Amino acid sequence: MTVLAIVVPCYNEEDMLPETIEQLLLLRRQLVEEGLISAESKIVFVDDGSRDRTWSIIYKACLRYEEVKGVKLAGNAGHQHALLAGMFAAKQMADCIVTMDADLQDDIYVVREFVRKFQEGYDIVYGVRRKRDVDSYVKRRTAEMFYRMMNRIGVQLIYNHADYRLMSRRAVEALAQFREVNMFLRGVVPLLGFPSTTVYYDRKERKAGVTKYPFMKMIRFAFDGLTSFSMVPIRFVSVLGFCSFFVSILFAMYVLFLKMTGHTQTGWTSLMMSIWLVGGLQLIAIGLVGEYVGKVYKETKQRPRYIVDVDLLNWPIIARQAE
Ligand code: UDP
Ligand code: MG
Repeated sequence: MTVLAIVVPCYNEEDMLPETIEQLLLLRRQLVEEGLISAESKIVFVDDGSRDRTWSIIYKACLRYEEVKGVKLAGNAGHQHALLAGMFAAKQMADCIVTMDADLQDDIYVVREFVRKFQEGYDIVYGVRRKRDVDSYVKRRTAEMFYRMMNRIGVQLIYNHADYRLMSRRAVEALAQFREVNMFLRGVVPLLGFPSTTVYYDRKERKAGVTKYPFMKMIRFAFDGLTSFSMVPIRFVSVLGFCSFFVSILFAMYVLFLKMTGHTQTGWTSLMMSIWLVGGLQLIAIGLVGEYVGKVYKETKQRPRYIVDVDLLNWPIIARQAE
């Protein structure tokens, strides 16, 4: 029978966690009773270096329930890396892994559909939001712009899919072979090429706590996604560079012509303008090149994505052996 692991990254989620744990246990029990998943199925919480009581809540839940497992990262590695930590930890003990947020915004009962699709033979099942009506206007519009831009430059993203998905063990193992440190899961997972399908669901408001993705972090995330997948921005800069070079040659000929006809003073304004314009363009170009150089630098360093601090995956077994 299918062994399922539900992976939940948590960053400062003390307000939300007790209810999340309760709800997920309920869901798990229900699916086990329906005979859909094995009683071996687990719920894995990853504490992404929280500064509140998150870990102590996870720890206590691990003590109390055998089906709850916990992993604590030594620092705040970020949502994407926390997801990876959870998936890689869970892949030895599950046939398939569902990742979801700790805030219960995504309808958790969609997991039932996920597992059914997995049993039908799909390796990857994407949870896709039917509407985005609970998001603020700004978030909705920026998200829309982001998906459209990514698609236009050739990155295949699943529209309105966040990180709520099911992956088979072999899909997670394939994912582990992507050694890049800047892991943008929504872009990488479709690249795996395994059989995949989508399941639609509605998203609710966050019940407690605040979003861990404030506006600036979201922009950063989008920019990271863009620059780790596409060379279009840097090519755009090159094209811009060539264009401005061409224009400046024409401009120089014009200035030369003015000088020959004896109207040199009139050049002052336009000269200043062109200096500023080209200077500005150069700055943009340097900035973007820097972005890529930064990425190359990070990759060559081969830093670990995260460092596991405490690992309660086999904890009850060890404890029982010690008794
Ligand atoms: N999260 C995390 N590390 C971070 C930021 C967020 O593990 O650095 C977790 C967070 O606890 C939540 C999930 O990622 O379970 C998604 O975050 P959130 O719900 O705040 O994002 P939103 O739904 O507002 O986009
Ligand atoms: Mg959320």
